[in-house]
Amino acid sequence: QCVAVCPTAALTEVNYTNKVWEAINDPDKHVVVQTAPAIRVAIGELFDMEIGTIVTGKLVTALKRMGFDAVFDTDFGADLTIIEEASELIDRIKNNKTLPMLTSCCPAWIKFIEHQFPELIEIPSTCKSPHIMFGTIVKTYYAEKKGLNPKDIVVVSVMPCIAKKAEAERPELTKDNHNNVDLVITTRELGAMIKEAGIDFANLPDSDFDNPLGESTGASVIFGTTGGVIEAAIRTVYEWMTGEELDEVEFTQLRGIKGLREATVDIAGRKLRIGIANGLGNARRLLESIRDGKEKYDAIEIMACPGGCIGGGGQPYHHGNYEVVKKRQEALYREDRNKKLRKSHENPFVKKLYEEYLGKPYGQKAHDLLHTHYEKKERI
Ligand code: SF4
Repeated sequence: QCVAVCPTAALTEVNYTNKVWEAINDPDKHVVVQTAPAIRVAIGELFDMEIGTIVTGKLVTALKRMGFDAVFDTDFGADLTIIEEASELIDRIKNNKTLPMLTSCCPAWIKFIEHQFPELIEIPSTCKSPHIMFGTIVKTYYAEKKGLNPKDIVVVSVMPCIAKKAEAERPELTKDNHNNVDLVITTRELGAMIKEAGIDFANLPDSDFDNPLGESTGASVIFGTTGGVIEAAIRTVYEWMTGEELDEVEFTQLRGIKGLREATVDIAGRKLRIGIANGLGNARRLLESIRDGKEKYDAIEIMACPGGCIGGGGQPYHHGNYEVVKKRQEALYREDRNKKLRKSHENPFVKKLYEEYLGKPYGQKAHDLLHTHYEKKERI
């Protein structure tokens, strides 16, 4: 068994690539793969492509050639997360509930808060992270649509992240004792599998993700960078709270690579104060300032890895070179600008999912399937 140390020094990486091949080769299994936003701007580096090359289409072709039954996009799950997270933030603001709300897609920080800041356990959003939401929808809505038994579906997540392997096993994120995501592999592991399959990645033609769970907006693409999740949420919160269309969707005040940032966004006369942290020490400082009452925010985003998921522990090694991380970040912003739709609530397939299956955003069924809760744990 191959293990590598997580950059957060909290976890070890278990290599599931053999299990993924076994599932692909099992004729009784329907194997669905989803890829996180940060993968498409980094995996090309493993095939000697220029840093910051966007390889979304080649990635999809490679996954199809490897034999997956359906190739979907975690970005769909990210758009879905924004619908729920934006609804939750508006609910917390309007009904004087706990603020700030912490976006909840980084499992390393959820775990950190549980153990190190139990007094702040109410601040993380109750939304499951995008790949877990996605897996939940595959094993319910998609299974029903395709007439498949969820037990015969294997959901594989390709993530920039080592912590996502442990996240997929968390009892709070499983359903009826079954994992919503069965196997998590990293960008590096997928690169190794593509090489093992003898696929000439750099020269592949482009393909599109499969539908209905492959459509995404620019808002979901920027999830891969520090500041991206909160910017995606604000695009939706703004339009829903004001009832007005955003002229300019790029909230540049939320962007950058600095470890600790803050910005104020005016929404319908209410000034939302936002804090953003990436990297271990910065995130701790942000949480301490909130715990000690020194700073007050309405929403915060924390990513454990420097630069966010683009600098994640499962990505091609960048050896602490911020120029690499910045080029990946620029590539994500380019990909966002290339998208026809740039706000999560405009994703037509997400809208259809609510119409056909989930009902109201932040409603009962959405709560049952897409939300969870966290508990205080012993300090370690
Ligand atoms: Fe994983 Fe790092 Fe992204 Fe957090 S910031 S979700 S630990 S890759």
